[in-house]
Amino acid sequence: MTDAERFELDRPGRLRGRVAVVTGAASGIGAGIAEGFAREGADLALVDLVDERSAGAVLDAARAHGGRVSFHQADVSDESSVVSMAEAATAAHGRVDVLVNNAGIFTQSLLEDLSVADWDRVLAVNLRGTFLCTRFLIAPMLDRGWGRVVNIASQLGQVGGTEVTHYSASKGAVIAFTKALAREVARRGVLVNAIAPGPIRTPLLERETEQWRSAKLAELPIGRFGEVGEVVPTAVLLASEEGSYYVGQTLGPNGGDVML
Ligand code: NAP
Repeated sequence: MTDAERFELDRPGRLRGRVAVVTGAASGIGAGIAEGFAREGADLALVDLVDERSAGAVLDAARAHGGRVSFHQADVSDESSVVSMAEAATAAHGRVDVLVNNAGIFTQSLLEDLSVADWDRVLAVNLRGTFLCTRFLIAPMLDRGWGRVVNIASQLGQVGGTEVTHYSASKGAVIAFTKALAREVARRGVLVNAIAPGPIRTPLLERETEQWRSAKLAELPIGRFGEVGEVVPTAVLLASEEGSYYVGQTLGPNGGDVML
């Protein structure tokens, strides 16, 4: 046995041998999922709007676990950008087994002040981006009879919230997309699920107003915002063999903000 083979065996490994695409991987929840997947032995194709240098921290953290990690700069809302990313990720790793649609943006506005451009951009990244990445990566998963799609929604897509109609609409639609696609492809070996986190301490949360965050904190049963590391285990579960009976579900690491 070579050192490289011995090292392969030593890696903890619920995702060993899998290739995962994670979008929005340069920051926050996506960076946490990338590192968590790397820790579990996955090879990674990391995708973000920012360039490779700006994604250096997550690339270093993921590579420290010994797997193969590639980076692909892409705008998930743009069809040609996603097509190029899907081709490059597949070429870099030979195949893609797991897709985490995590890239997302957040802005805040009362509906009466919300610009049409803001509505369109939030829907384009959060919903169209989820559609495009899935559309251009799922076919080989279906052909091979194994795949996982994990869509990062939000608890605001389940319960709504003030000043976030566009964001809530995009995330509610991601949950509906998840259910519909899950029904379509589960028998072909591809399992599609969503995670709807509550408020998690990332740069995105910093974009919410202080007033909004205080009000949310006051109503959260757990009395604190979540950490990225409290979302990652759910993503590992849904991406791995252990998640083999989850179909079209929306799992909620949300501090009790939503109780179904
Ligand atoms: P974040 O720290 O802002 O990270 C999002 C990442 O996605 C950023 O690196 C961002 O790049 C990238 N991105 C944005 N638009 C993109 C595009 N068009 N194409 C490719 N990448 C793009 O936010 P986060 O909190 O980790 O959020 C991750 C996901 O979790 C989002 O879908 C968000 O809606 C969801 N979520 C977050 C929370 C929370 O409280 N944090 C709660 C529920 C759900 P730039 O920095 O260049 O924009």
